[in-house]
Amino acid sequence: MSQKQSTSSAGGLQVAPFKFDVTPPLGHSCCGGWIKPVEVIDDALEANGLVLLGAGRPIVLCAVDWTGLSNATHTAWRTALAEAAGTTPDRVAVQCVHQHNAPFVCFEAERLVAEQGDLPHIMDLAFFQRCLDRAREAVAQALRQPRPVTHFGWGQGRVEGVASNRRVYRDASGRIIAMRGSSCRDPKMIELTEGLIDPFCKTVAFFDGNRKVAALHYYATHPMSFYADGRVTSDFAGLARKQRQKDEPDCHHMYFTGCAGNIGAGKYNDGTPAARLSLTRRIYEGMIASESKLTRLPLSSLAWKTTTLCPPPRQSIAMADLATMISTRTNSVLDRNRAALWLGSLRRLESQVPIMLSALHLGPVKLLHLPGEPFIEFQLRAQAMQPEDFVCTAAYGDSGPWYIPVKEEWDSGGYEVSSALCEPVMDDLLTAAMKGLLASH
Ligand SMILES: [Zn+2]
Repeated sequence: MSQKQSTSSAGGLQVAPFKFDVTPPLGHSCCGGWIKPVEVIDDALEANGLVLLGAGRPIVLCAVDWTGLSNATHTAWRTALAEAAGTTPDRVAVQCVHQHNAPFVCFEAERLVAEQGDLPHIMDLAFFQRCLDRAREAVAQALRQPRPVTHFGWGQGRVEGVASNRRVYRDASGRIIAMRGSSCRDPKMIELTEGLIDPFCKTVAFFDGNRKVAALHYYATHPMSFYADGRVTSDFAGLARKQRQKDEPDCHHMYFTGCAGNIGAGKYNDGTPAARLSLTRRIYEGMIASESKLTRLPLSSLAWKTTTLCPPPRQSIAMADLATMISTRTNSVLDRNRAALWLGSLRRLESQVPIMLSALHLGPVKLLHLPGEPFIEFQLRAQAMQPEDFVCTAAYGDSGPWYIPVKEEWDSGGYEVSSALCEPVMDDLLTAAMKGLLASH
């Protein structure tokens, strides 16, 4: 793990917000190809970002309405944004919001399914390149009209009735019996406790004098109300963000999903269109509550810290078995395409291509950018590490590692543990990396 830090005084700081469309074409695979492909666009998927100028080489933050960007696709995305912004890829954080009626991409996994001939594509390579072209255009356009930043602000508001822990249904020994998914109609599961969550929507805003230029919202839950119906949507988190954007056309609203590996809306969501509306309203109200009491300070300096991780790939998932899973035509598409995504990631992890993590320090406010689907414990831990600071965590950066359970949960089993692609030592590696990124010096 090598760590880098650059600190800059921020006199003359500017922000250039950008947005571009990443809605997949009709017929494109959703969530890696094992659910219904795109049939209808209910609302557009967006990439929302900003470039920070005037503090050394530009810094780029971007939130994408996709399920995941794994391995080399994540590098490609960061590289395209870096080139357009005139910076280096290590100064670009790209995080997915993790909706499921949306692309979930990996070049190696696409190559693996394409060579089979009978499997749905993981991704449309030409569409992916079009998205990168749009990214470059959007950043170039934004850089023509940057806005001054004189102040920043931060606040949090409680979100009621959205997040619930997925791992609450256990036997006497603590082992997971079943997952409480994103939607749930089983009264027994709904009845169970909310479990460990982070109840807060956190917001960090950039101001030009009294004018709010950008607002970045952070909340931790899987963002799906219902899916697998071929209808593309930014779902309740995206819809709430779009509503805030409509309220305030002059402020650029962005939404990041936190460490939601073991978090979903299951306790509060029966999977109906009415539930989607109420979840949207609750996130929206959380954003309003969060923004209503922003603490505001002049922005005098900022720091960008990065570190890399090379976690060992999970040994108990044999790559040869995955290859057989993919090529056995009697297996389900779900099993075969998911095996392709796993194999793509395990090969990358084995080759020790580093995973990039970063943090932006704005005085007492720290924005932390993590890979994969970490459990909620990680963002609570990040905040506890810096009790005097205000820590906002965005997960779903490089999706290569898939789930990142805390090590205590490995013996309890369950879907998330079965879909973790790193060894349990990933907990210690990630925790140490977070500590370094959040430390002020
Ligand atoms: Zn997930």
